[in-house]
Amino acid sequence: MKLLVTGGAGFIGSAVVRLAIARKIEVVNLDALTYAACLDNLAPVADSPLYHFEKADIRDRAALDGIFAKHAPGAVMHLAAESHVDRSIDGPGAFIDTNITGTYTLLEAARAHWQGRGCPEAFRFHHVSTDEVYGSLPEDPQVLFTEETAYDPRSPYSASKAASDHLVRAWHHTYGLPVVVSNCSNNYGPYHFPEKLIPVVILNALAGKPLPIYGTGANVRDWLFVEDHADALLTVLTKGEIGRSYNIGGENECSNLELVERLCRILDRLRPRADGISYAEQITFVADRPGHDARYAIDPSRIRDELGWRPSVTLEKGLERTVQWYLGNEPWWRALQDRQGVGERLGVKT
Ligand code: NAD
Repeated sequence: MKLLVTGGAGFIGSAVVRLAIARKIEVVNLDALTYAACLDNLAPVADSPLYHFEKADIRDRAALDGIFAKHAPGAVMHLAAESHVDRSIDGPGAFIDTNITGTYTLLEAARAHWQGRGCPEAFRFHHVSTDEVYGSLPEDPQVLFTEETAYDPRSPYSASKAASDHLVRAWHHTYGLPVVVSNCSNNYGPYHFPEKLIPVVILNALAGKPLPIYGTGANVRDWLFVEDHADALLTVLTKGEIGRSYNIGGENECSNLELVERLCRILDRLRPRADGISYAEQITFVADRPGHDARYAIDPSRIRDELGWRPSVTLEKGLERTVQWYLGNEPWWRALQDRQGVGERLGVKT
């Protein structure tokens, strides 16, 4: 199978590309190289004969047609998106353009390619989405997002992803395009762009800066190690039932405050502050995100029971591996800290 991955220079996409190539799958990485992209994420596979790169925008139909004709992929895994909720609050337009119009344009290019080859049933269009499309959960730990939970997105980001999920399902029902959809919880791990909570906390701690906690830090998220997620995505792609959705979670619920405290404890052990005081002293409570969802949590039964997939990394182990990776890869994150908006508080002006 030749797999076309969109957004393969991003955080999750690059983990998928690295894993797919390790499993001897030929990959075409299609990416527009926005502010969030980093081709260094692909350094471990860049010289592989199984790796191809195409710089293109998913909103550019002519470019997409050319890439489909050139590579004739047997499957598409669609990750390209604007992905940062805080940026979607300040500038929703780019999220509507890329996540909705871009997904529509990619669907049309994929459909033309698939129909042009006689509609092979083995073709797959795998759309990668978020659990944020389901809205916010109450505190009750018994209440979880299932694949049947009604959509109730609340941020411009999650609304744009919800719209793209609906488009993908419509292309299946209307045109028969063989699609699968997955909705995952918060990812973390190596190569995480330094505007997201976990890398911000690690890098601010090392720089002696405040560790910002939105509101009271009571918001709960489920955390999924990115390499586990890449494995789950390849499982859904190859074993998922056409037309079906799969929720992917890490089985690791944690409040933001507890998460930051855990990171501080790991840093205290691996890179203690010169003055011997805990990094937790740097925790600072800041204005909450407008419309901040209280809790996300995934019921993982479907992917576990139907596809036999479970996460392999506990939050404790995953955070330790992540901190170690940032400590060992300073040139990678230093280069990204100069990019527009990184290190600034975004998403507070409404
Ligand atoms: P990311 O921001 O790290 O990477 C996105 C990639 O898409 C970048 O390489 C960027 O250059 C590319 N891209 C953006 N606009 C494009 C366009 N118009 N044309 C072509 N390429 C474009 O994102 P991520 O965190 O790796 O997320 C990947 C996918 O997973 C997204 O669809 C996101 O919605 C979804 N997701 C992410 C998380 C998470 O925790 N990071 C959770 C749930 C779902």
